[in-house]
Amino acid sequence: MDHARRPLIAGNWKMNGLAADAEARGRDLAGRTRAGDAPPCDWLVCPPATAIPVVVAAVAGAPVAVGGQDCHAAASGAHTGDIAARMLADAGCGYVIVGHSERRADHGEDDAAIAAKAAAAHAAGLVAIVCVGETEAERDAGRAHAVVARQIAGSIPAGATAANTVVAYEPVWAIGTGRTPTVDDVQAMHAHIRGCVPPSIDAAALRILYGGSVKPGNAAALLRLPDVDGALVGGASLVVDDFWAIGEATR
Ligand code: PEP
Repeated sequence: MDHARRPLIAGNWKMNGLAADAEARGRDLAGRTRAGDAPPCDWLVCPPATAIPVVVAAVAGAPVAVGGQDCHAAASGAHTGDIAARMLADAGCGYVIVGHSERRADHGEDDAAIAAKAAAAHAAGLVAIVCVGETEAERDAGRAHAVVARQIAGSIPAGATAANTVVAYEPVWAIGTGRTPTVDDVQAMHAHIRGCVPPSIDAAALRILYGGSVKPGNAAALLRLPDVDGALVGGASLVVDDFWAIGEATR
């Protein structure tokens, strides 16, 4: 971790819990950040869409941002069931995750679709967290760096900057499995990503998160890597003690 880039600890709550659970989790996290001696990181939580308003209210006044888990590329229109980026902004979000591997797999989203979503996020004033990552077969075939370079080239829209974009490297095979790449592999991939982002992005200022089975027990080893600027956390972000412990690992 390079402390010139303030680490971001982001929780992706996925499709878990009801509004009351999310509100309680948000309130607990906000209370900890207000209690003094909080770790030197930015906090973000991405609740299910229906819980965004209660979480925004629960963290009001605390240094905890709220984000969406996806957005549509269009600003409005006949897209039943979708959410526009500006609706997320209107609800109090500052961020949106785009291109999570579960969206790529479950909804057939390709790089071009993800770039369009990230562009919509930027137009709405949101920071887009653009997810990339190889499958296990791609890593085993020695293609991980090439796959991620292709995803970076295709998923980051024109005009993206280090201020409106965060990249999350999430190897598909590490998500929810308890498995992680070696720290050497993580550092090598993050340095690779920093080297291949488009020229509109100041690569030295870009925050690149690692995601995939981050837990309190492995967070320090991952977060101390020079090109790891935080974590995108799934399962462990649902338990505030664990999420907080991951943030503590940024000290
Ligand atoms: C994720 O889905 O973004 C993720 C990183 O999940 P987990 O931490 O549960 O592996």
